[in-house]
This record gives sequence, C-alpha cells and structure tokens, in this order.
Amino acid sequence: MRIEADVAVVGSGFAGSLAALALLRRGRRVVLVERGRHPRFAIGESSTPLANLLIEELADRYDLPRLRVFSKWGTWQRSRPDVACGLKRGFTFFFHQPGTVFADDAGHGRQLLVAASPHDEIADTHWYRPHFDQALAQEAQAEGAVYLDETRLERLHHQDGHTILEGVREGQAVRITAGFVIDASGPRGFVQRALGLTEAPCRWLPPTQGLYTHFEGVERWDGLRPSPEIPPYPIDDAAVHHVFPGGWIWMLRFNNGLTSAGAALTDPVAAAIGAADGAAAWSRLLATLPSVADQFRSARAVLPFVHAPRVALRSARVAGPGWALLPSAAGVIDPLLSTGFPLTLLGILRLVDLLVRTPAGLERDAALVAYEQTTLAELDATERLVAALYATMDDPPLFKRLSLLYFAAASYSETVRRLGRPERAPGFLLCAHPVFGPEVVACAAAAAAGPGHSARRALEERIDRAIEPFDTAGLLDRERRDWYPVLAGDLVASTAKLGATPAEILRLLERSGMVPVARSV
Ligand SMILES: Cc1cc2nc3c(=O)[nH]c(=O)nc-3n(C[C@H](O)[C@H](O)[C@H](O)COP(=O)(O)OP(=O)(O)OC[C@H]3O[C@@H](n4cnc5c(N)ncnc54)[C@H](O)[C@@H]3O)c2cc1C
Repeated sequence: MRIEADVAVVGSGFAGSLAALALLRRGRRVVLVERGRHPRFAIGESSTPLANLLIEELADRYDLPRLRVFSKWGTWQRSRPDVACGLKRGFTFFFHQPGTVFADDAGHGRQLLVAASPHDEIADTHWYRPHFDQALAQEAQAEGAVYLDETRLERLHHQDGHTILEGVREGQAVRITAGFVIDASGPRGFVQRALGLTEAPCRWLPPTQGLYTHFEGVERWDGLRPSPEIPPYPIDDAAVHHVFPGGWIWMLRFNNGLTSAGAALTDPVAAAIGAADGAAAWSRLLATLPSVADQFRSARAVLPFVHAPRVALRSARVAGPGWALLPSAAGVIDPLLSTGFPLTLLGILRLVDLLVRTPAGLERDAALVAYEQTTLAELDATERLVAALYATMDDPPLFKRLSLLYFAAASYSETVRRLGRPERAPGFLLCAHPVFGPEVVACAAAAAAGPGHSARRALEERIDRAIEPFDTAGLLDRERRDWYPVLAGDLVASTAKLGATPAEILRLLERSGMVPVARSV
C-alpha cells in the first residue's frame, strides 16, 4: 500500500484527529495512522475553561461547527448525546490526613472549591475518551483523511525532502510519503523511538507512579457528607481531588454511570501500597483514607487497573525539519491541574498555523525551533508549579495559596483570549509574562524548599502580590473561605486589569452565556 500525503499524523487520539481536521480544512492531504482501533480506553479526561475555549478557537478558525458543540456541556448534550461525557463545574480539593476520617472547620481549612462556570449550560466536561476520540477520528475521516488503523509503523526516514513512514497493516506493507509528520502518539511515541530522541529527566517534580481504572457504583461525596452550606457548585460535578501527603486521588464522574478514578503517588507512597499489584494496591490505598473508601464501598472496577511506573515523561527534542511532536507526545507532567489538554490544544493551534503559513524550507525550520522552545518552556512552567504542589501536599494552606497562581493565570488567559487580546497572556500559565512568569518560578522554588516560619509569611504575601494584577475571579477575597464561585461582578470589577472597557466586558458576559449571573449581580 503506497500513500502520498502532505501531512502524516501518527496517533488518532483526540489530538491527532483535531490536527488532521484543521489541516484538511486548509486543503491539505492528510493520512491519519493509528496503531490500535476505536473505541479504546485512554486516560486524560478532564477539560478546563481554557481547554474548551481553545476547542472553540480551533472550531472557529478552521470552520468546524461539528467540533464546536463539544466545547460546552449544554451544546454537547443536545447535539451529541451519543458521545458520553461528564459534567465539570469546577475543581474540588479535599485534604486528608491518612488514617483519619475527613473533618473540616467553618473556614474550609481542608478544602478548596474553585468553580469553572456559573451554570451547567456552559460548563466544562470530562471526556469519555472511548467515545470522544472515536467521534473525532470519524470526523477526520468524513473530512477526507485517509485513516489507517491497526497499523504498525516500523521505520521513519527522510528522502528527497520527504519523510517516508513504513510499516504493516493487515499483513500488507504500508509506505507513506509525506511532506511533514506530526507525532500525536503520546509520550515515548512513534517518532521519539524512530528517531532515537532522548528523554529529558524531570527537574523539579518527584518521581511519581499512576494507578487507575474506570469504576461503576462510586458514591457521591455530597451524598455521604452533605454540606451545611450551599457550595458554589455541586461538589461531585467537578474534577474531585483527594490530596494527602505524597499523592492524590482523582474522581471524574461520567454521564454513563462510570467514574474515572485513580491515584498519582510519589515513589515512597507507591512502594508502601505495592502499586504494581493493581486492585490489591488500590484497596490498600483506600484503607489509609477512610472517607474516600466510603465512596467506593459498593464500587466495582469495570476495567483492569493500569499501573504506570512513571507518570511524568519528557522528550528532550520536540521538532526538527519535517517532523514535530504535539505537546502530549513531547511530555506529560501530572494530571493535578488538568494541564494536558490546554497544553496540547495550544500546540495544535501553533503547529497547524505554522504548517499552513510557512512553506517547507529555512523559514519553516526556524519556526519549528521556536515551536520546540515554546513547548519545552510551557512544560517547564507546568512542572515547576506542580512540583511545588507536591512539596506542599501535607500543608493545605500553602498548597491552596500556590494553586491560586494556576487559577489566576488560567482564568485571566481565558478572559483576555475571549476579549480578543491574547497577547496580554503570553505562554501557558502566563509563563512568558515578564513579571508573572518569573514570580511563579520564585514562589514555586521557595515553597518546594520548605520555607521556615518567618519566610512562610513573606512567601504567602509574595504569592498574593503575583496574583493580584491577574486576579479577575475574586481569588484574593479571604471572605470567600476558599470557595470561589464564578461571578460576573468579579469580571466587571476587573476591567482595568483586563485592559477592556465595561461595555466590552458586558458584551463578553453576554456572548459567553454568563448573562443570567450578570443580571443577578
Ligand atoms: C494518569 C493521567 C491522567 C491525565 N489526566 C488528564 C486530565 O484530567 N486532563 C488533562 O488535560 N490531561 C490529562 N492527562 C494528559 C492527557 O492524557 C493527554 O494530554 C492526552 O491524552 C493527550 O491525547 P493524545 O490524543 O495526544 O494522546 P493519546 O490519548 O495518548 O493517544 C495516542 C494515540 O496514538 C496511538 N499510537 C501510539 N503509538 C502509536 C504508533 N506507534 N503508531 C500509531 N499510533 C500510535 C495510540 O493507540 C492512541 O490512540 C493525563 C495524563 C495521565 C498520564
């Protein structure tokens, strides 16, 4: 089988199919190569407001209305009820002491609730990847991609300015001649192995292991422990994080009765529960967390447990003449802040734009160097902040303070992009901002070093000062006791920080569907 294409995309997860779709809409001939077959399990499920905005931008820029419906819970439910997903209204954190039943005070000292949307219609989602990835691969095929699944690629080489991929499908030899190769095959994926790219060790994050699967019958936290106050959103309709010293558990509920749950654990905690033992290790972990265990008392795993001996992986190289890795193939840091999707979507937007605008040659090669640098810098920024959070998992107040750096950067970035001023938020987590970027690095380093009593106060104040110019969500309002709703009033009060007029903010609130809240503010 011989195929010629402008671009070969290796891997048909959501990222490969989205890159293929955008290129097809610009008239490129695309071959999409998949080792496995849809539907298939994939981990990485929780989206964020920024990720969903990037889906919208991709859909608008490349005229993909059938993609746009997946950017919000409401349109998704009406247009594609056949594609399962979960309702994500926010980020829920509970901080546990192993061996102890969860208890909190009136100040919410052991919890953090950050709403991502004011109501369900415009809420984020957890993507049930067996359905979602299949739906996008089908969209790519409908748009004209040559789709080769169950294909084992074996070699990659360059010849006469083209990249040649060779492999086997259904016992037949496959030879693809492409002008460019996008690797969307995940970390340690095809191009990394074919080109022998080395891995770059994590510099700040402790080594961590993953243990996860899908369950049925997981009980809701708010069913077992109803809150005496009304929280900013239903606590379980969220990415729920159960944090404890040395690790954390995620819980993401889908609308098909399943719940994705798993743990990311530092090596000592993973060793203590024998993480490689799968189901038995999960039981041992729950035995240390009685309140989480309550949620699983009638639950059943519907798939075998996956044990990932290393969660974080990095490639030292991201792009070269004729090839590029998507950020998700270049590295994984940790799911703690749901950073995988926005990083990957930013990479897709940049790479497709680069390929569409820049003809092959020196100019494109220079643009690929810039793409590589940006991708690595964003992975670094993510790793530094997540590493600081790992270092403070036994210190909820400092963990929460640090995580507000993420929420400030993410919500500010989303808002200025929606206002058409993306240049005000350079880099993921504002990492290329001349003030905020270095401040996050400094605060993360100080937190990871374990500040003493007096330095701690100074660090908390420094974090607050870094956040203040970008806080458009009331994150520094201590009266909220770490429960942060989405309030239109916060945006209206932030016009100066956003460089916008009140009229622009009101139009934004209307466009983005926050109007019912705006009226009540
Ligand atoms: C434990 C864990 C939890 C995570 N949770 C989140 C989260 O909640 N939110 C978030 O934003 N991010 C999360 N992430 C990151 C997220 O998983 C990734 O960003 C996302 O899956 C990337 O999607 P993808 O389509 O690029 O790759 P993948 O989903 O990995 O898909 C790659 C595809 O390539 C195919 N493939 C592999 N090798 C080959 C080959 N040689 N030839 C052809 N095809 C090949 C595979 O079969 C697969 O279909 C998490 C990561 C981990 C490890």
